[in-house]
This record gives sequence, C-alpha cells and structure tokens, in this order.
Amino acid sequence: MSQKNLPEHVYTSSKIPDKPAPDWTRFVCVSDTHNKVNLKTYNVPEGDVLIHSGDLTEVGKLDQIKTAVDWIKSLPHKYKIVIAGNHDLTLDKPFYEESWNGFHHDKEDADEAINMVRNAGHGIVYLEDESFTIPENGYQIYGSPYTPRFYDWAFNGDRGSFLNEKWSKIPPTTHILMTHGPPSGILDLVATGENVGCVDLLQRIQEIKPLIHVFGHIHEGYGVLKKKWETENNDDIKSTIFINASSVTRRYKPQNNPIVFDLPPLN
Ligand code: 5GP
Ligand code: MN
Ligand code: MN
Ligand code: MN
Ligand code: MN
Repeated sequence: MSQKNLPEHVYTSSKIPDKPAPDWTRFVCVSDTHNKVNLKTYNVPEGDVLIHSGDLTEVGKLDQIKTAVDWIKSLPHKYKIVIAGNHDLTLDKPFYEESWNGFHHDKEDADEAINMVRNAGHGIVYLEDESFTIPENGYQIYGSPYTPRFYDWAFNGDRGSFLNEKWSKIPPTTHILMTHGPPSGILDLVATGENVGCVDLLQRIQEIKPLIHVFGHIHEGYGVLKKKWETENNDDIKSTIFINASSVTRRYKPQNNPIVFDLPPLN
C-alpha cells in the first residue's frame, strides 16, 4: 500500500515523522505476532500506546504466552493494550477445558495463562469484552477477542445471534475499537477471493462509527482504509480509519511494519 494514499497521521512505513505536537498521542499497532515477532526480528517504533489485536502466540502454550508477554513488557510504550485471538487457546478457559486435547499434548493451566497476561504489569492492559480509558487524554478503547467460527478455535462465535450479542456490548462512546478480526468487506479478503470478515460487526460499527478500528486475523489484509460515513448533514461528516495490523504474512513471516497513528487531544 503506498504511503500517499493513506489518511492523515497514519503511517505504515518504517520512517515515521514526529508527532504534530507534544500533546498528541501516538498509537502503535501490531497484531498476529504468533511468537514470530521479537526484538531481533521486528522493529516497533516508540509511542505512547501499543495496541496488540490478538494472536499473541502459536497455540497458547504457557511458554508461548510468557515469550509474547515478555516481549511486549520490554517495549517502551506507557500503555500496552492487548486482546487475545483464536490461536491463544489457554486464554479462552471454557474452550480450552473442552478442547485442549486436540491441540496440546499435555493439558496446561488456563488460569496461569490468563494471570500471566492480566497481571503482567509494565502497562499491559488486557481487554476481553471490556473498555479502558487512557487516563491522560480520555480516549476510550474497547477490546474483544471474538471472531466468526472457522474450524474450531478459541473465542470463535457463531455468526448471527452469538456475535450480535457480543458486539452489542461495545459502548457507543468508544473512540478506538480493537477486535481480533475485521468487519465484513474491510481488509478481509482471502486468497480464494472471499471477504471473510464479520457482517454482524460491520453493522455495529455503522451504529457506533468509532474513530479508529484496529484488528488483524486475516494476515493478507494488512493495511489501512479510511471510510467516510454518509450523513444527511454535510457539516457532520464522520469517518472511521480501519487498520489491519497483522504483523506476519499469510506464511507467518514477520514482514509487515507496525501501523502508527497520532491523535490530537480530545476536546
Ligand atoms: P489465523 O490462523 O492466524 O487466525 O489466521 C491465519 C490465516 O487463516 C488468515 O490470514 C486467513 O488466510 C485464514 N483464515 C482465518 N480465518 C479465516 C476465515 O474465517 N475464513 C477463511 N477462508 N480463511 C481464514
Ligand atoms: Mn491457523
Ligand atoms: Mn506437548
Ligand atoms: Mn493470526
Ligand atoms: Mn487469528
């Protein structure tokens, strides 16, 4: 994706300008790091807030969760907002208790995995269908790990009523929405030519019109798209910037730069 087509103050290249002013907030987005991304393989720009949109690990083993959390802890951002993805099996305890046998040779302790992420410290904030407001500037972030069922993975939900119920919990006041997967038709194209994103999520987004929606999951959809919402009143044009921040490619190579955006103080 070429830099010149990007919305203002959103950057996908490895060279990023300074913030427009010191009181702006710099967000740095990664996703789908899958234990392929570490300090040696992947450069993460400095900023105020790191956003990780899930698939921290290969298959959620405790040592994989620890490796991912240790890497995130080592980054300089004051806040590190993290959600899980379908690969982070142990973070979905009810699912893991039922299904561990198909993935892991030995059963591991889901509570230990959840504890490692929730109590990591170092500014890590783990969101599972919940909000976090950045104290310094009031930006409200909501995160959810759910994706439409594809085979049988963690945090999978059936399209329709189950996912509708999940998305209904997103507060209308949300500025920055984090989900693991994309909404339908937006940075969600797979090699077979299908748009596999969530229709139910798109409907909720059309109601809420958050400033920013960050996701991953469909690795080949990496990139940025700005969508202007139709309104009757031209003075009140709203838009949403969609960011698919998948850090690895479809072949799980850590080759996609973190995506950076800067926001002004809220007034
Ligand atoms: P992951 O296994 O890391 O969650 O997703 C990796 C890849 O699997 C994606 O980049 C995409 O190619 C494929 N994938 C994930 N979810 C879906 C889905 O719902 N439908 C299809 N067709 N492919 C998917
Ligand atoms: Mn997979
Ligand atoms: Mn094993
Ligand atoms: Mn992934
Ligand atoms: Mn995924």
